[in-house]
Amino acid sequence: MSKTFAAVKGMNDLLPPQIEIWQRIEGIARKLFGRYGFSEVRTPIVEDTALFVRSVGEVTDIVGKEMYTFIDKGDRSISMRPEGTAPAARAYIENGVANTEPLTRWFYMGPMFRYERMKTGRYRQFYQLGAEAYGALDPAQDVEVISLCHEFFKQIGVPDVVLHLNSLGDGSTRPAYLELLKQHFLPFLEVMSPEAKLAYEKNTMRLLDSKEAALQEAIASAPAILDSIDEGSKQHFADVQRLLIKLGIPFELDRRLVRGLDYYTRTTFEFIYEPKSGENALGTAGTVCGGGRYDRLVHELGGPEKPAVGFAMGLDRLVLLVEKLKGIERAAPTLFIGTFDGPERDDAIALVMKLRNEGFDVDFDPRNGKLPKQKERASKVNAAWFAAYGVNEHTARTLKIDNMRLAPGAPKETVEVALDALPAWLNSKSKTPS
Ligand code: AMP
Repeated sequence: MSKTFAAVKGMNDLLPPQIEIWQRIEGIARKLFGRYGFSEVRTPIVEDTALFVRSVGEVTDIVGKEMYTFIDKGDRSISMRPEGTAPAARAYIENGVANTEPLTRWFYMGPMFRYERMKTGRYRQFYQLGAEAYGALDPAQDVEVISLCHEFFKQIGVPDVVLHLNSLGDGSTRPAYLELLKQHFLPFLEVMSPEAKLAYEKNTMRLLDSKEAALQEAIASAPAILDSIDEGSKQHFADVQRLLIKLGIPFELDRRLVRGLDYYTRTTFEFIYEPKSGENALGTAGTVCGGGRYDRLVHELGGPEKPAVGFAMGLDRLVLLVEKLKGIERAAPTLFIGTFDGPERDDAIALVMKLRNEGFDVDFDPRNGKLPKQKERASKVNAAWFAAYGVNEHTARTLKIDNMRLAPGAPKETVEVALDALPAWLNSKSKTPS
């Protein structure tokens, strides 16, 4: 027997019918993000490894443990992108975008790669929909991107997504805060894993994200960064909250929210799925969106001083939720045309193609076969109407069209439509009967 293959662990095939949810969500995103003034960008799925080390940070799970990194044939260290903000910032700088426009709003959709432990809603190839706004420090920009997320969840039909909000300050008071944090964790150094010790030394704030049991008490009692941020950031954060209230966007202050990446400053936020009743379909992978400001990133990567704010949503998780909450609405043909052996079959097929090319959802069974079998196929694809096209119909230039979606016990409904009148009739049926 020949070998059969399986997809690489943690990487999923996205197939019909679920793909319809992906497409619907992506369609809503394109429209809504466009209306908010965001244009799509597509960057390569691989980048110079150093880009992620510099931006995301060496002592983070992503860069330390999860990147798919390889040496290419030119001896370069390349990494599959684990996130979209650093590649977008690289493209923004490399293409000199700041020279031609003072304000830039971008969005992207695409696969990201992290070598993670898998569970529901956590994969090694997953998809993010993200946005980046460069050039505005004003709190209005923070609120615009948050409002975009809020409206997006509403439009795709996912309720119970709670906005968690915090501020990390502009960075000026961070050394003092880190010193405070180091003092706090010092007595726990002995019980730390080598990994946590490294975080202690190199990136102390990461300890607040640690899952190590021995550290949980220390994490719970750790000083909050919000208490030590600079005055300017306090005002900025107050303005963000005031505007959110004005827009009717509810939020919860979350003093523990520091996020996993190094480049965040000032506002940070997450949207977390917290259903009020029933099971949580995402289990512990409930964060559907993470974002915030990264006012220093563009400059740190060699670009101009440009404040920026953005977010990334996990599409896999949103698709799971939409499927659970709303089910899959499959696209279905309006009309299915049955065919017979004989010279008029070519005319039937030509009619199907002509109607499709005119913009109608019309289907047929290319296997031909017996008419009842074709009708079964029409049912299977949930066609709204069915008509046989044989020699009689061909001669009479008229189809007898049956309603395939009758209520149980309802009488048969058949309409006669002249071939010439089919486009007009299909137009009137484009809202298919339920
Ligand atoms: P992050 O870039 O880690 O802030 O992630 C932003 C969002 O992407 C998260 O809130 C998740 O919804 C999603 N996400 C992150 N990692 C994964 C993963 N391994 N599998 C699926 N979704 C993920």
